[in-house]
Amino acid sequence: MPRRRSNGGPRIAVIGGSLTGPAVALMFAQAGFSHVNLYEATPAGTTLGGGLISLEHSSLGILDQAGVDQDEYVHVPSETIWQTPVKDRVLGDPVRRVYPGRFTTWTQLHDALTRRVPNDLVTTGARLTGLTAHRGHPLLEFAEGFTVSADVVVFADGRASTGRRLLDPNRRLRYAGYVGHRGSLGFNPTAMVDFWRLEPCPGVQFNIAPIPGGADWTFYLNAGPGEYTRMFGAAPRQRLFAQPRHVGGTARAHVDGNAVWHLPEPFASAVHCTASRTAFPVMDIEPPTQMVWPVGDGFAVLLGDALAPVRAHTARGANNGFEQGDGLVTALCQHLRHDADLGNALSGWQRRYLPAAVAAVRLGPVIGGRLGLGVSPDADSANLVELTV
Ligand SMILES: Cc1cc2nc3c(=O)[nH]c(=O)nc-3n(C[C@H](O)[C@H](O)[C@H](O)COP(=O)(O)OP(=O)(O)OC[C@H]3O[C@@H](n4cnc5c(N)ncnc54)[C@H](O)[C@@H]3O)c2cc1C
Repeated sequence: MPRRRSNGGPRIAVIGGSLTGPAVALMFAQAGFSHVNLYEATPAGTTLGGGLISLEHSSLGILDQAGVDQDEYVHVPSETIWQTPVKDRVLGDPVRRVYPGRFTTWTQLHDALTRRVPNDLVTTGARLTGLTAHRGHPLLEFAEGFTVSADVVVFADGRASTGRRLLDPNRRLRYAGYVGHRGSLGFNPTAMVDFWRLEPCPGVQFNIAPIPGGADWTFYLNAGPGEYTRMFGAAPRQRLFAQPRHVGGTARAHVDGNAVWHLPEPFASAVHCTASRTAFPVMDIEPPTQMVWPVGDGFAVLLGDALAPVRAHTARGANNGFEQGDGLVTALCQHLRHDADLGNALSGWQRRYLPAAVAAVRLGPVIGGRLGLGVSPDADSANLVELTV
């Protein structure tokens, strides 16, 4: 077993530099771990972007503790979601839902986190491709041709996780039968200050909320796997994120047509005039049964979307990542400060956090079923097989 190193704990390699990875690397560094390195596949300077994310108070508290100032990533003080029926393109009476947290965006959160992670811990343009045990230690292999030895490997490499493929290969993503079409506007069409959720009919949901400088929308619409492929040029499992260059005329016409059919003005116009659009196929996966794997005398763990890429409707993905990351640092501190057995610390962490990850994975299809989106959890297996690509 890797022993506590007198000079700052085990060597920790974090894979993934989006949200979960930088948060956990930052917390490890702040807790006194001296051998922390983060590897991110995308090259330095790559412009990544992302829309609205809601964070529960538990996650906000974790970020407070890590010294990430809320003013940097919470742009409006709203805690309200207006859930609104729509009939004949007219808004019905909205129901106020109180959200137990705040709204942010991926971009704000990513920037607030990454600017705090010391530069010398981060290697960008490093895509992990393999993990083996070498002389008792996990050995990481990178596509760029170098290897790194570590004691603990923390996979925070997202829903297409290489870590999950290597450690838990039987859990494969399957298409849920609907798409989240997304866009960001450089203006706020109704001067809204809260999150709005429009529900015209089963199988259609439109979310819109203010972001700095404008508004962000997500339009959920059912689509078979063939339809997804026609719209975005590749099957759902091959294209887990359709970037603006993948969103061509077919997808735009499909989304604009549905907006005009289902949404009141000015929401339909807002969709129509959104220049840059993205999309993601909603995917499901079997719930995880473990979070920790021995690799030689060391360990590898999965967390965040790498462990459990939950449906966006659950609003739990980023929240799970922060809570699991915080718990992981706490568990490993017992090893660092009090010489607790590393394997025991990790198995205690797994026992504490696995149930919430399982619950979030199971919740997604239940919410989708309620909204008439995709394949209901009660659908027969023949239907599920047909939709699996
Ligand atoms: C429309 C929408 C709304 C959402 N709303 C919410 C919400 O309200 N609340 C919430 O909690 N969550 C929400 N989520 C989910 C949330 O965005 C994700 O759970 C979160 O971004 C996951 O973060 P992550 O860091 O675990 O993974 P990711 O963001 O997927 O990042 C993985 C990182 O790993 C890198 N990487 C991948 N493979 C490798 C490799 N082999 N080697 C090195 N690096 C690699 C990638 O480049 C990437 O930077 C929403 C998602 C969507 C799509």
